[in-house]
Amino acid sequence: MRDVVNKNVTEEQLLETARRVFSRGWDKMKLYFMIGLPTEEDEDVLGIVETGKRAQDVGRRDLGFDRAQVVVAASTHVPKPHTPFQWCAMDDHPTVVRKQGMLKDAARKARIKLRMHDSEGSWIEGILARGDRTLANMIETAYQNGARFDSWSDCFRPDVWEAAIAEHGVKPELYLGTIPVTARLPWDHLDVGLEPGFLVKEYRKALRNRLSPPCGKAVGMFVHHASVAEAEADKKKLVCYHCGVACDLGQMREERLVFLRRIDKKREDAPVVAIPAEEAPRRAGAPKQARFRQGEPLRVRLAFSRTGRIAWGSHLDLIGIVERIFRRARWPLFFSEGFNPKPVMMFPPALAVGTMGLREFVDVKLDSDRDFDLESAIETLNSVSIEGIVFLGGVILGPNDRALSRVLNEVEYLAVIPRSVLAPLGLSDDDALRRKVEERMAAGGAGGELKATRVTEGITRTVNVADFLVDAEGGASLAVLENLGIGGDVTGLRMTMRLKGSGAARPGEVVSALLGSTDIEAKFIRTAVYAVEEGARVDPLSIEPLRRAPSAREVVSDDGGGDLAASPAI
Ligand code: SF4
Repeated sequence: MRDVVNKNVTEEQLLETARRVFSRGWDKMKLYFMIGLPTEEDEDVLGIVETGKRAQDVGRRDLGFDRAQVVVAASTHVPKPHTPFQWCAMDDHPTVVRKQGMLKDAARKARIKLRMHDSEGSWIEGILARGDRTLANMIETAYQNGARFDSWSDCFRPDVWEAAIAEHGVKPELYLGTIPVTARLPWDHLDVGLEPGFLVKEYRKALRNRLSPPCGKAVGMFVHHASVAEAEADKKKLVCYHCGVACDLGQMREERLVFLRRIDKKREDAPVVAIPAEEAPRRAGAPKQARFRQGEPLRVRLAFSRTGRIAWGSHLDLIGIVERIFRRARWPLFFSEGFNPKPVMMFPPALAVGTMGLREFVDVKLDSDRDFDLESAIETLNSVSIEGIVFLGGVILGPNDRALSRVLNEVEYLAVIPRSVLAPLGLSDDDALRRKVEERMAAGGAGGELKATRVTEGITRTVNVADFLVDAEGGASLAVLENLGIGGDVTGLRMTMRLKGSGAARPGEVVSALLGSTDIEAKFIRTAVYAVEEGARVDPLSIEPLRRAPSAREVVSDDGGGDLAASPAI
């Protein structure tokens, strides 16, 4: 079947690739296949799982790597315009379901992980792919009846499409069946540069199971040369079928050399430590290998603010943005070990989407010595930063300075609440709000309860926010709003919450527990993140009061690095 689709990959090459992948310690490999191609027999379908199993056996049986896992992804072939298969029929729905069932059974027996697309989605895709202008009204009707994001399985609504097809009298078989090669096609007027007759020639070759060696590569090569020396030594002509695109083969050869020279240069600049075959992690649990030479990391703590539109990004977005700012500023980032090295950074607990942070922190490891000029490096960070992220200062951490996750104990929020929301509760006046908060705080103190309802993925539970609430003040100062573009007839509720290993209270929960209503719309701003040392709040950049010899456990866990904001956004 690989010849039919001109994949130019032999079984031996595939298994050799599996051997290279697993012997270097990667424990997962994904193979992509297609069902429903022209000339396909049931044995071809079963061959998909057999091939995946053989590749998995290379890791598990031949190399003794117990965790080796092959994932087989099988999608359904949808004939597309401007390809050699634009005339051929697509498998009908019952056939696709039957083949997918065969694959499921075979994969279960072979203990191979299988991923497949929803067969109904492919059916609609098949109609649209070779559709003509008469489908326009049908598509509009489906859209108006709610068809959106159809390639997301949770949003796909086949009933909406089926109703639209029926309403407009569309005959799916016209678009899913075989089209004579002499027929006028709806896309014939679009010129993609192919010689007339080229696709039909390739179509006929594919039906005869004949392989066309890949064009653009030297005669006899399935893949491109991987080094300048190999490419320069090979004087053979590049394969070309004169399809009509009219490539300049001389220029293609030259461009390939330019690309290879760039790769060679990168290899020289960033020496990669070759992993001797005998050291390759072949067994389950084998230690992962570092691929970069790095010295002892220098740990730096930075304070920054996240305000404005950037607050609408997620915590993951923030991590990506901060990393890109470091790269733009050419900070020498220190990377984690393993097969997917990442800059080692650590943030406080995630901010909820839409919440600004006036004094956030990040611990980052650098591949640098202690002469690193932090002051000017922070200036550079700010010069390349994006709107909304401002670096406020930083310190270089010593070996006895604990990581952020070890020192942070409290977070402070300001809830900005419109007075109109508080009026029905009789709390629009600052004094009334202050008294209400004091009263509720007294009720929650010393083992009392301040209950709020938390809904997570449809599951409701009661949280006692008194377990986390340290202090709160109604009618709090709103001076910080001046520079944040927030205004209106609003008042403030300031609250400080304890961070515990067991979690944290969310600011919205605290507001509803204090004011006795779940209908309070508020804008939250995280104004501070604190370490509490001997009863006093300490800013995490003030490292002297926080310094103490870490325990052996802390030393070990700090070394792992990464983002420790594992708790849900608060
Ligand atoms: S013209 Fe270009 S794309 Fe067409 S067959 Fe030749 S090399 Fe391939």
